[in-house]
Parts: sequence; C-alpha cells; structure tokens
Amino acid sequence: MIGEGATGSGAQGDEEPAIRFEGVGKRYRDGTEAVRELTMDVRRGELVALVGPSGCGKSTILRMVNRLVEPTSGRVVVDGRDTAHVDAVELRRGIGYVIQAGGLLPHRTVRDNVATVPRLLGWDARARRARADELLELVGLEPGLHGRRYPRELSGGQQQRVGVARALAADPPVLLLDEPFGAVDPVVRDRLQAEFRRLQTELGKTALFVTHDLDEAVRLADRIAVLSTGGHLEQYAEPGALLSDPATDFVVQFVGSDRGLRRLAVTPIRPEDLEVPATLAPGDGVAYAATALEVDGRSWGVVLEPDSRELVGWVPRGALTEAMRRGDRAGRVGDWTQPFPVVVQRAETMRSAFSTLLGQELRFLPVLEGTEFLGVLTPDVVHTALRAAPAAPAALPVDGTGTA
Ligand code: ADP
Repeated sequence: MIGEGATGSGAQGDEEPAIRFEGVGKRYRDGTEAVRELTMDVRRGELVALVGPSGCGKSTILRMVNRLVEPTSGRVVVDGRDTAHVDAVELRRGIGYVIQAGGLLPHRTVRDNVATVPRLLGWDARARRARADELLELVGLEPGLHGRRYPRELSGGQQQRVGVARALAADPPVLLLDEPFGAVDPVVRDRLQAEFRRLQTELGKTALFVTHDLDEAVRLADRIAVLSTGGHLEQYAEPGALLSDPATDFVVQFVGSDRGLRRLAVTPIRPEDLEVPATLAPGDGVAYAATALEVDGRSWGVVLEPDSRELVGWVPRGALTEAMRRGDRAGRVGDWTQPFPVVVQRAETMRSAFSTLLGQELRFLPVLEGTEFLGVLTPDVVHTALRAAPAAPAALPVDGTGTA
C-alpha cells in the first residue's frame, strides 16, 4: 500500500488517531453551512495541512477541535475522547493554538505571554518563569534579552516564535495552527517553517494547520487535506501523491498547472535515477581517457581518485582530443581536470538540487552521499525522477533550511 509507514508517525494500523472528525458539520446561527459532514483522521505525530479557497471552512474545522466553534452535528474525537463531553477549558489546555502574528497579549511581556497556560494551571512564579525561558530558548529566542520585552518590541517573525512557544507551554500533544506564518515576510517564513517542522517532529506533536499557501503545505505536511466549499474533503493524501495524482477536477484546478514544478519539492534524489558516466583517474593517460569517453558517448567524464573513489572533478573530452591532436601522448587526465564549482548532496530535495544546477553553467553536477560519488544530476535526471512514482515524504529533509 502506498504511503504505509511513510509519515514517520510510527505504528498506524489500529492506533487511535490523535484527532478524528466523524461526520462533523457546522451551521452558523445565520444559516451558513460552513462544514457539511466531514470525516477524517489525523494520526499521532502527524502534521496535516488544511488547504482550500477562502471561505471553504478551514478555520471552522480547526476551531471545532478546541471548541472555539461548537459543531452542530457529528463528533470530534481528540485522543479517544469525544470533545463534546470534555470541559472546554480543560480541552483547550491540552491543545496548543497558534494564530497569525502570534496573537499575543500586547500589555504582557513576552515571558508572561509564554507562561499564559502555566499560570492558568496554577504553577508558581518560579516554575512559570523557568518553563517560559526554556521555551523561548527552544524557539530560538534569548530569554534574557527578549523575555522582558513587549510583543510590539519584537519583529513579526519573533512574535510568531513567541506564539509557538506559548502554544507549547503546557506540553500539549496536539497543536492547531491557523495561518501561522501568513504575516511574516517570505525569507523569515522559510526559516520559521523549517524550524517549526523540526520542532514538531522532535517533540512528537500532532499538528493540524490551516494555510492558503499550497507550497507551504507541500513543504511541511505529512498529508494535505484539500477542501472545497462546505468543508468538502476533495482529497486527503501525501504531498507527492496529491501533486502526481489529483483525485478530482477541483484538486487539479487547485494545485495548478505548475504542479510538476511543485513536485520537485517532494521528489527525493534516488541514486538509480542518476546518470553514471565514464569515470577516470587523474593518472590515466589522455589516449586511454579519450577513447573511454568516446565509447561512453558523453562529451565529459568524471574524475575520481582510484582507491578512495573521492571526487576530483571532471574532464572535457574536447581537451583530451585536443591534447592528442597536438601529439601530447604522455599527458595525464589530471592535467585537464577541472573542479566542479558545486556538488549536490543526496539528502537534498530535487528542488534545491535542480535550482543549484540552473544556477551555474555546467549541465551536469555530481551527487555525493557524504564523500561517496553516486552519479550525476542532469536536466534529464530531473525529468526521469519527476515521471517516477510519487515520493515518500518521510525520506525527505525539510526544504528551505538553506534559506536565509
Ligand atoms: P476559511 O477558513 O476556509 O476561509 P471559514 O471557516 O472562516 O473559512 O468560513 C467558512 C464559511 O463560514 C464562510 O462562508 C464564512 O463566511 C462562514 N463563517 C465563518 N464564521 C462565521 C460566523 N461566526 N458566523 C457566520 N458565518 C461564518
């Protein structure tokens, strides 16, 4: 089965999901039917994105989990308990909630904002402060420096971090995020996304987040739920599967004509897709090398140290034939070897690798795992990889870590 064990969420089979929507509906008092009969599960430790056009019911769905909005039909089950039967205040203490721009209290210091839930839980001042400082550090803020400030004295990205710290304060197993990165500029957003994903995975939190940004969803989520008006679930799938096999016309429209490009972000570099050119050693003679490259059919070869197979560079066939023409039969490959301007690591996504390839003159780049040479990335390789089966996202690093 596609995707089995691919979400990094551990055992999935019979395990109680972290969040279960069972035929959930919401009709607002004015008669607006925001959500009609939604049924879906969020597994423990999973990061799920809700995407869809404005007004399709994403926020309503999210807010029914912590009962900021009460469902009018069906059940929302969190951690095996029907939320309708759990005290709303108690429920919310077990669910972190992050909104745009952090949703911080302007007249409280950063430290007090982070300690909101511990205060509600009756922790003493010292324990609250220690927990707040621990969390500020966790999200990359300096407690001594930022703890005493007020939210307006922080940048948008810093406020967002404080919002995440506050949501984590009581160590809730479930996090809800409503457009968490919507208000920060793109460069900061990339970094915050990557940091959040790392934190969420490390801490093993289940996260449900709303975004209108499909690329954000593709980059972060284990699974994406695409919704249309009325909270109708059009497709619920891993990013790679969603982009390669949109289930309905609505999803096709929604993911857009550039879904091929979007898929690069969830396509791993697989050694079997790489080109394997002729390899030469620096000590090989030019006559031998020229023949080897002619047989191989490429206009270049890769040069490796003979024993360690460590990458030395590449050699253009033209230089070898030119050397031959000039009668330089004693010449060695090493005399004509050029270093690669940049290399690609196998753990990168195809998106960053392809971007690197486009950013420089050579049409081929070596792919390494550590120092081991695996093969060569070319535009053809990118095409082949994209045409192959959808990727298992668990194998992928979070893209964007190289940004900023
Ligand atoms: P999204 O988050 O996808 O933009 P929402 O969940 O905010 O969508 O809204 C879904 C639908 O419910 C929209 O038609 C919206 O106008 C309506 N809606 C949201 N909140 C209320 C409310 N408090 N009262 C009446 N209608 C609402």
